[in-house]
Amino acid sequence: MFSYRHAYHAGNHADVLKHFIQVQLHQYMNQKDAAYTYVDTHAGVGVYALDSAQSSKSGEFHDGIARLWERDDLPKALADYVDVVRALNPSGKLRYYPGSPYVAEQVARPEDRLRLFELHPSDIKHLVDNFRKLEAHKAEQGERARGRRILIDYKDGFQAMKALLPPPSRRALVLIDPPYEVKLDYKHVRDAMEDALERFPSGTYAIWYPVLQRMESRQFPDRLKRLPAKEWLHVTLTVATPGPDGTGMHSSGMFILNPPYTLEPILRETLPYLVKVLGQDGGATFRIERGTQVTGAGMRAEASPAGTGTGTGAGRQATGGARVPIGNARRASPLSGGGSLRLPGQPFVDANGVRIVKGEPKGEAKEGRTAKPRAGEYRPPQGTAAGRGAAKTAEGRPAERANAPAKRIAGSDKSGARSDSARPAGRSTKPGGAGAGSPKSGGARSGGPKRGGPGRP
Ligand code: SAM
Repeated sequence: MFSYRHAYHAGNHADVLKHFIQVQLHQYMNQKDAAYTYVDTHAGVGVYALDSAQSSKSGEFHDGIARLWERDDLPKALADYVDVVRALNPSGKLRYYPGSPYVAEQVARPEDRLRLFELHPSDIKHLVDNFRKLEAHKAEQGERARGRRILIDYKDGFQAMKALLPPPSRRALVLIDPPYEVKLDYKHVRDAMEDALERFPSGTYAIWYPVLQRMESRQFPDRLKRLPAKEWLHVTLTVATPGPDGTGMHSSGMFILNPPYTLEPILRETLPYLVKVLGQDGGATFRIERGTQVTGAGMRAEASPAGTGTGTGAGRQATGGARVPIGNARRASPLSGGGSLRLPGQPFVDANGVRIVKGEPKGEAKEGRTAKPRAGEYRPPQGTAAGRGAAKTAEGRPAERANAPAKRIAGSDKSGARSDSARPAGRSTKPGGAGAGSPKSGGARSGGPKRGGPGRP
C-alpha cells in the first residue's frame, strides 16, 4: 500500500476525462448563490510538475493533456478545462498539471469550501506545501484570504467524508478517486457511497475508476447503478484497443450520482472530440449511459451507442468558469516560489486560508511497501483502507474502521471534526511537489509504469 504515486499518471487521458468533468460539475454548482462544500476524498498532491522524474519517466501526459494543449478547436467544456491548466502555466509552456484540489480551487468560488484528504505520508506534505505556495501567490496578487475555505486533512478520505455529510449549506460536490491499487478500493467506494447517500441523498458524487479486465472493475459500474441515488450518469473513454495480455489502462470511467442535467449534453458534445484527439487506434471509443431510480421497481437505464471518434468539432466559445491569472501571474506560475513559505524551525501559522494543524508525519517517508515508519511517524491506523490493504485481509470492511484514529494535518470546520494545534509542515524541494516518488517504486501498482504500459492500478 502507499506505493501509488499519481505523479506518474498526472495529465494522462484518464485525468483529462476526470478533470474536464470536474470543471463542469463546479461550474454547475456555481450557478446557485448558496455556497457548497467540495470534498476530495483522495486528493493527491494538488499540482504536478510534468518535468519531474516520475512524469518524465512515464510520459503519460503526452497522450493526454499535451494533445489538447495546442488545439484551437476545443469544444467549450475542454476549453474551460484547458484554461485551468493554463492558469498554472502562464508562460504558455506546459510544465505543471493541476490535480483535482487545484481544479477545485480555481473553479469553485471564494465562498465555497474545499475539504481535501490524503493519506500518503509524503503526498500530504506536498499537497500542503503546494497550497501554501498557491495562497502566498494569491496574497501577492492582492487576493484576500478566506480563513476556512480550504482544509487539508491527513486522513482516510472514505472515513472523513462521513463527518462532512450533510454539509451545513446542504450543497456538496464529492470527488472519489482512489488508486484502486487494492481490489478492496472498489468495495470501499461502494460502501462509502451507501453511507454517503444515506446521510446526504441529494449530494453530487463523482467517482473515477479504471476500466480493466479484472472482475472488480468490470462489475463496478453495475454495482454503482444499484446504489439508491435518484439519477446517475456513466461515461467511459477508451483511447486504445487493450493488448492481448490485458496490461495497461486504456480506458477509464466517471460515474456521477445525482448529476446536473446539463452534464449529459456536454458529454455528448465533448466525448467524440476526445476520441478523435486522444484516440490512439481504431479501438478508441466512448460510451455514455444514464439511469434513474424508479421507486419500488429498481433502476431504469439508457445507453448511448458507442462513439467512434468522428468528433463534433463544436468550436471554442467564450469561457465562463475558470479564472485566469492577472498581472504578474501571467508571467510567474503560482508555483514558481516566493511567498511566505515556512522555514524549518519556524512555528507554523495558518497560511492565508490553508489551515494546517498538527499530526503531520515527520520528515520524508520511504516509499513502497517495505517502508518502515520512524519513531513518531504516522502509520496507517489498522482498520483504515490503507491498513487493511497492506494486511491483505479477506474482502470485507472490519467493524473497527469507523472508529479508527487518524492523525490530522488540518482541522475540519464545524460541520466536521475538531481542529488541532499547529505543527510545522515539511517543504517540497521541487515545485509541483512531484519529486517525492522513488523511481524504485515503479511498476503498475506502484504508479511508475513505462509510457504506454500499465495504468493506474
Ligand atoms: N484526485 C487526485 C487528482 O485528480 O489529482 C488524484 C488522486 S490519486 C489517484 C489517489 C490518491 O489517494 C493518492 O495520492 C493516494 O496516496 C491517496 N490515498 C490512497 N488511499 C487513501 C485513503 N484511504 N484516503 C485518502 N487518500 C488516499
